[in-house]
Amino acid sequence: MRNDIYYFIDKLRSEHSLTLQEYKIIAESFNEANAEIFREAADKKRRAYYGNKIFIRGLIEIGNICKNDCYYCGIRRSNTNAERYRLTEEEILSCVDKGYELGFMTFVLQGGEDSAFSDETLTEIIKYIKGKYPEVAVTISLGERSRESYLKLKEAGADRYLLRHETADSNHYAKLHPPELSLENRMRCLKELKEIGFYVGCGFMVGSPYQTSETIAKDLKFIEELKPEMCGIGPFISQKDTPFKNMPNGSADFTCYLLSIIRLIHPPVLLPSTTALGTLEKNGREKGILAGANVIMPNLSPAAVRKKYALYDKKLCTGSEAAEGLAELKGSMAAIGYEIVTDRGDIKLSEREE
Ligand code: SAM
Repeated sequence: MRNDIYYFIDKLRSEHSLTLQEYKIIAESFNEANAEIFREAADKKRRAYYGNKIFIRGLIEIGNICKNDCYYCGIRRSNTNAERYRLTEEEILSCVDKGYELGFMTFVLQGGEDSAFSDETLTEIIKYIKGKYPEVAVTISLGERSRESYLKLKEAGADRYLLRHETADSNHYAKLHPPELSLENRMRCLKELKEIGFYVGCGFMVGSPYQTSETIAKDLKFIEELKPEMCGIGPFISQKDTPFKNMPNGSADFTCYLLSIIRLIHPPVLLPSTTALGTLEKNGREKGILAGANVIMPNLSPAAVRKKYALYDKKLCTGSEAAEGLAELKGSMAAIGYEIVTDRGDIKLSEREE
């Protein structure tokens, strides 16, 4: 079997598919020189679909109350140090108003799994947003729910749903989550969301505890097969009140390497350069964009709650991470040759004509 990087790039270009073994070799071939080769190929591919345009999403962290106890997450239910909050409907809608004024055309409502965000409450919020601003896209990221619930959210007008699969290996999944959570149910959710007609986003943390080149190979194969409209990957960053508090953080450079590979596996994918990447490394988000990402999600949550949505330590929430810092973000993207656009940022299924 040929196993040089150019062979993999050619095969991805022509077939968009590699074997699990080939993905494993790629994961193990990470070094600066190979990262640069993948980066260049990914940038070229992204430009073929999206030019130098970067889409922005207004992220509204609607609450940090969560019934789950994921071992990596700072808002897990056992974290008694977390200062809990839940935004009211009025607060959520005023974040949307503020974001719309700033030029956002997509809003992401994200939070813990909190039964107070019932189908009734959420459908009301979604209908209100879509009634007032019919041209915007609404993305939900509120974890695992029933098929009926997903259907109600879709019928109310929600367009997209982000639910990272976290890992496509069930043993690894069990090392990251308590027994009541299963990869099987995650997959059920993703499958149903797709069937119902949501734009779906999966994803995983890079460098999560117990991750190996085999589990990464499965993640890449899963992305290849699911062909999600969106894919969120960011480095794992430890949080001091979780069982993984002493686990090492993921690497920003390896995250960028995987961003490039994902761009080549599924070229049209909407790929964010995440806050976690920007938190781990100065200019991390710029590096993510250069590696092939084409989405940034500035924070639109009320300033008073931003620190409380502490999934991991030292999370960035000011400056160009914040929606108010849009001018700064535009400047930092322009400096590396990219343009922030106010657009719903829907997926483009074919390469551009010109
Ligand atoms: N509850 C929803 C869900 O589970 O999809 C949305 C919120 S959840 C906190 C959003 C994402 O944060 C998770 O999918 C996870 O990958 C990421 N996350 C949680 N803890 C993290 C950590 N310590 N480092 C990096 N990312 C983390």
